[in-house]
Amino acid sequence: MQLGLIGYYSDFVVYPLVIAVLAVAGLIEAGEDNAPGWIVTVVACLVLWTLTEYVLHRFVLHHIPYIKDLHDRHHIEERSSVGTPTWLSLGVHALVAFFPVWMVSGFAAASAVSCGLMLGYLWYISIHHMIHHWHPTHPSYLYTLKRRHALHHHADETINFGVTSAFWDRVFGTARL
Ligand SMILES: [Zn+2]
Ligand SMILES: [Zn+2]
Repeated sequence: MQLGLIGYYSDFVVYPLVIAVLAVAGLIEAGEDNAPGWIVTVVACLVLWTLTEYVLHRFVLHHIPYIKDLHDRHHIEERSSVGTPTWLSLGVHALVAFFPVWMVSGFAAASAVSCGLMLGYLWYISIHHMIHHWHPTHPSYLYTLKRRHALHHHADETINFGVTSAFWDRVFGTARL
C-alpha cells in the first residue's frame, strides 16, 4: 500500500532491532553447546528466504487480488513508496513462522528461524530499494540485479521473479538476463 516516508523507511530501523534482540535472547536460551546449531539454522533459513522471496513474488504479488493491484502499481510507479507496512510483514512473519516454531520446538529454534528469515527479508527490501533508487556502475552485482529487475518490471512480468539472486529463476526456468 501507499506508505508515508516514515512508514517506508521504518522497516530499515525496526527489522535490525528485532533481529538483534531475537539473536541475543535466542543465543542465551540456546546456550553455548547449542550455539553452532543455532547459527546453522539461521543460515539455512536465510537460504530458505530466497525461495520464499521467489514464491511470494511469482504467486502472491502477481496473482492474489488486491495485492496484485498494489504490485501492478509498483511496476508502473517504481520509485513511489508503495510497499508492505512493517506491522503487516512482522505480523505475518510472527503468525506463519515465529509462533508455530516456538510452539513445536521452543524459543531457541523459533528465534533462529526468525533471525534467518528476517535477515533475508531485510536483505531483499534493501536490494529492492537500491535497484530502484541507486545508479550502480557496470559491471557489478547490483547492476546485474537492477537490469534483471528492470526487465521484469518493463519487458516481461513472467520472468526474473528473484530480486536478490537469479538462482530460483534458473531452477524454475524463468530466468532471463
Ligand atoms: Zn513483479
Ligand atoms: Zn520493483
